[in-house]
Amino acid sequence: MTITPPSLRVPFADLVDLHRPLLDDLDDVWRRVSRSARSIGGELLDEFEELWAGACGTAHCVGVANGTDAIELALRALGIGPGHEVVVPANTFAATAEAVLAVGAAPVFVDVGADTLLVDAGTVAPALSERTGAVIVVHLYGQAADVPGIQALLAGTGAVVVEDCAQAHGARWLGRPVGGLGSAGCFSFYPGKNLGAFGDGGAVVTDDAAVAAAVRRLADHGRSSTDKHRHDVVGRNSRLDALQAGLLTVKLRHLEGWNRRRRQVHAWYAEGLSTLQGARTVAQRPESTSVHHLEVVRVAARGEVQRELTGRGVETGVHYPVVCNEQPAFASSRRTALPVATAAAEQVLSLPMHPGLTQDEVRYVVSVLREVLER
Ligand SMILES: *Cc1c(COP(=O)(O)O)cnc(C)c1O
Repeated sequence: MTITPPSLRVPFADLVDLHRPLLDDLDDVWRRVSRSARSIGGELLDEFEELWAGACGTAHCVGVANGTDAIELALRALGIGPGHEVVVPANTFAATAEAVLAVGAAPVFVDVGADTLLVDAGTVAPALSERTGAVIVVHLYGQAADVPGIQALLAGTGAVVVEDCAQAHGARWLGRPVGGLGSAGCFSFYPGKNLGAFGDGGAVVTDDAAVAAAVRRLADHGRSSTDKHRHDVVGRNSRLDALQAGLLTVKLRHLEGWNRRRRQVHAWYAEGLSTLQGARTVAQRPESTSVHHLEVVRVAARGEVQRELTGRGVETGVHYPVVCNEQPAFASSRRTALPVATAAAEQVLSLPMHPGLTQDEVRYVVSVLREVLER
């Protein structure tokens, strides 16, 4: 067999291109921070927190150091700790479960819907017990999951919904932004996310003033809001720097446009993939206005397909190859039956997805995939 060299190179993501039109504004932020005495806290942080709360439709936003801290501190602020169980989808990034163990609670892994790969009331229900303190709803791949349906299931139990929105900045459920649907919404601003910093960052958004104050206190060494020398609880240092906050404010102006562009790229993929045998797409629920952080298909013999795509210049990823309950760190955790998540972990393949993709690039990716799958 002769190997034809790839006619195109399609990167998985392209942050350099994304940032190019913003460079002057981004440089201005550095100029401002480097000439001021405030690189921690201050007006750049206040401004971003206010804008991000507004974008999420919540009363409060607290910047923290990263998305994992956001989940951990939100759980602690909501009183979740030792003795509690926290329901977590089996097919998420390890950080979701890690945050549960960090507060001393026990993760209980549940399966996901076969079409969406998201948790819903049906997959959460079998895991509930008298010890359930929270359900972490992960808006995986950028699609809003059914938070109201899960809240209805929890009504009267005292358990709350915490949203892991690390892949879903700007996504909406029936018009309402994610992050403001549950008791607290947790964001990561890791560079590759839909809204990414130039380093680590995260935030917790909530309508509950007491939860916001508790997160702020925990993220600042448990310090009292009125007496900086009094430490009321054992907290930690988890801050969003002024520089990152300022850079995020610049990028936030473009988030809606980038997300629109991702929806267009997704539509091109959906059209091309609809006639393709052997690549099962992730179904989009009509209630969700998705932001397509990732474009995921399920294929048999994924390793081989991925290698062939790489050889033809198409960069791909896998999110995630191992379900959390099979990770050594979480192997002892309780779980329900997980047939969907377990099977999906062997098949999921993330195709190139970023706001700069062209229709020609998407056509090329689909045509290469067709060639590989139909052989
Ligand atoms: C990225 C991510 C996190 C963790 O965020 P960090 O900022 O890297 O700590 C948590 N959950 C999900 C689903 C993620 O994709």
